[in-house]
Amino acid sequence: MAEILVLVEHADGAVKKVTFEMLTKARALGEPSAVFVGAAGQAAELTDKLGEYGAQKVYVAEGEDFVGFQTAPVAAALAKVVADVTPAAVLIASSPAGKEVAARLAVKTGSGLLVDAVDVGDGLVATQNAFGGATVVRSTVTAGTPIICLRPNSTPPEAAPASPQVTPVDVTLTDADKAARVAERVVEAKGGRPELTDAAIVVSGGRGLGSGEKFSIVEELADSLGAAVGASRAATDAGWYPHQNQVGQTGKTVSPQLYVAIGISGAIQHRAGMQTSKTIVVVNKDPDAPIFSLADFGVVGDLHTVVPALTQEIVKRKG
Ligand code: FAD
Repeated sequence: MAEILVLVEHADGAVKKVTFEMLTKARALGEPSAVFVGAAGQAAELTDKLGEYGAQKVYVAEGEDFVGFQTAPVAAALAKVVADVTPAAVLIASSPAGKEVAARLAVKTGSGLLVDAVDVGDGLVATQNAFGGATVVRSTVTAGTPIICLRPNSTPPEAAPASPQVTPVDVTLTDADKAARVAERVVEAKGGRPELTDAAIVVSGGRGLGSGEKFSIVEELADSLGAAVGASRAATDAGWYPHQNQVGQTGKTVSPQLYVAIGISGAIQHRAGMQTSKTIVVVNKDPDAPIFSLADFGVVGDLHTVVPALTQEIVKRKG
């Protein structure tokens, strides 16, 4: 069976969930192999974890050059593995950095590239949602090695333990690969809430809140549930909440077990980022708001009354 390469998406050696999602997908398409590019010594700690999700092989390119520069060295290492093993396809996370690596890899290998895929099926047919989810596009790459960027939360990660064989990647970086040096890394200050795209529960607020201060209503409900906080674009554009919390077509895509939409109308661009959530709960004072068509449970009412009461009840029941 031909190898399907999966580029390990990680933050300083901490593997992101999308990697396990891609390995799960790769198992259905061929023989999954992980490619780790990062600082020296990090791969050894995560090989077992990659094996847990079915990686048969782990190709490792380690060293300071792979973290001291922008994405070009990662693409160079990945291109070397592609040249060495001639895989059937390469899966990369559809993150900003992942898409940049993918584009560089496509140029280096003369291959076709599909980004923002939500699925990859038989025949390496990739599915993409266009126009905010109104149109579903199915495409295949016809040139070179198919390179497909998969959106986080597109597929549930499923373990399938394997004992991967580790192979070092010997790649010589050029001056061009080292053209953009990373001058500084700043770790974003984080509260105790989970990461939006990884969270099992997301509570989002929209223009219906009326002001940035009122986002405390959303945060209190989120904290009672151990949830991440999301926001509509109307709320982020108004400066009520940071843009990195925006859910939707031009924000993040989430697919949690539970999504609570508070004071959000359900514009198609917002739905594009949350419509695959397993259970959707809506609080909106307008019974005709389009978001109700997605809702599993809905409350027609004033969020300023309904949401604090809900939070109070959850806190009470948790004792
Ligand atoms: P509104 O549409 O104004 O809805 C507010 C809702 O709150 C209403 O349904 C109202 O009934 C309800 N409400 C008001 N007061 C109360 C109350 N007291 N109690 C209960 N309910 C109340 N949007 C996104 O969210 N994400 C995106 O990524 C995104 N990308 C976009 C990309 C493009 C190219 C474009 C053109 C638009 C994009 N938008 C996006 C914007 C989108 O079209 C909507 O404008 C936006 O989602 C509306 O946000 P909202 O639902 O918070 O506001």
